[in-house]
Amino acid sequence: MSLTVKPIAILDDNYAWFLRDDATGTTAVVDAAVVGPIADFVKAEGGRLDWLIITHHHGDHIDGIPELAAQTGAKVTGNANDSARLPKLDLAVKPGDRFSLGQSEAVVIDTPGHTRGHISWHFPTGDAVMCGDTLFAAGCGRLLEGTAEEMFHSLARLAALPAATRVCCGHEYTLSNIRYALSVEPENAALKSFETLAKSLRAEGKPTLPTTIGTEKAINPFLHARDVAHFAELRKGKDNFR
Ligand SMILES: [Zn+2]
Repeated sequence: MSLTVKPIAILDDNYAWFLRDDATGTTAVVDAAVVGPIADFVKAEGGRLDWLIITHHHGDHIDGIPELAAQTGAKVTGNANDSARLPKLDLAVKPGDRFSLGQSEAVVIDTPGHTRGHISWHFPTGDAVMCGDTLFAAGCGRLLEGTAEEMFHSLARLAALPAATRVCCGHEYTLSNIRYALSVEPENAALKSFETLAKSLRAEGKPTLPTTIGTEKAINPFLHARDVAHFAELRKGKDNFR
């Protein structure tokens, strides 16, 4: 695989993601919300940090960026359409743009719903998507700014990616998402076996991520919504779950 992808557990349940283009050694961290743990992680990976990549403006995704950029000289990239709420961007991108991390190219996908300016970064040759708080393992982001219709279409864009695509999202919400998912699809065998896997990973203190688009299409009830109204009902059910 030409793109190395590693989760960095930070804050209570967030993940930043460390990326390395294996051909050139070019590196990035996605959603660098803190400084110390990310700087330590990068140091353990050889100390090189070329890019700081942003999915959306929430503090638990961007708060470490200005200081990390100052410390390392890494350049910052995020959504031009939301730049007023982001740290200073060296490269402002728009949905549909392509971004080069060494020889690994990312396509910027518009994924509003959780926030208005949320974008995802798909690396087709790297088999990975950085999807922030849009698609989670067995769940999806809350609708804080966008509409159910926007999120429905954002999730459809992600679900259309190749099945082997690694899903690199912003939170370890997996066990809680599975509880809700099982209440919606109690007979889903793939979901039940994913629950067994996720529980054993968490018992060992390991991340349940990344999953893959193929796994999510099998286990994630939000990707099984028939239409916008059905999606809205599922999302409301999760908001009120327990
Ligand atoms: Zn968020």
